[in-house]
Amino acid sequence: MKNEQQISAWFVFNSGQVLIEKQADGYHIPYGTEPPVPVPIGSTVHLLGELNGHPAKAYAIHMPVCGNEDSPRMMKDLRASWDILPLEEYKWAGKASQILNWDKNSRYCPMCGVPTVQISPIAKQCPECRQEIYPRISPAIIVLIRKGDSILLVHARNFRGTFKGLVAGFLEPGETLEECVHREVMEETGLTIKNLNYFGSQPWPYPSGIMIGYTAEYESGTIKLQDEELSAGAFYSRDHLPEIPKKLSIARKMIDAWLAGELPD
Ligand SMILES: [Zn+2]
Repeated sequence: MKNEQQISAWFVFNSGQVLIEKQADGYHIPYGTEPPVPVPIGSTVHLLGELNGHPAKAYAIHMPVCGNEDSPRMMKDLRASWDILPLEEYKWAGKASQILNWDKNSRYCPMCGVPTVQISPIAKQCPECRQEIYPRISPAIIVLIRKGDSILLVHARNFRGTFKGLVAGFLEPGETLEECVHREVMEETGLTIKNLNYFGSQPWPYPSGIMIGYTAEYESGTIKLQDEELSAGAFYSRDHLPEIPKKLSIARKMIDAWLAGELPD
């Protein structure tokens, strides 16, 4: 007797876009016993874990998938998939994207250049020198700075869009997260801050970051923008907010918490 085949959740990526399909209740990633499109030769199927009781699997394809009326499928930018996928599926798509990105960038040992071997879902090893290679995650801080009843909003040159968001920057070797917050704020705006409080964190799979959110209070200084990084920055009260980041981001979560009066004094 044949065993009933197990249904998997499939995360299929091509150039940063994830395959999604339209179902009766909206868009989802595809589920099924077989991969929704053929797995290319040389492409590894990665087991990510379990999603809603199903194995979650990911692989890369070399061509985007086109849907039709019978099979309403499409490729969607991971960032834009947040708008239409259930949150849980978006989160797993982010994880899948990071694993696939790591897989693509760790084919050869950085020490001796021989092909690596995957030894666990998130580890590879060099058969020569035994060096182990794990997915790299780059931590970055992000900080909401309050001054009276206003907050500091900036436009970074690398923002995708015209909105204004929060000061953020990558952690450097040897730094604590708190030191990083103080340094980034000083470098980018010339301000000193006080009363740092941890807010929360968010994986940011673009391509492999995590954002660590803090709130702080303005202490001293006048705004002097670091020109290479920021094109605008000022304190805004709630009545005069500019365009703010989309709901996807922890920046928006922090701004919304401030607007709702939910931040500690
Ligand atoms: Zn090696």
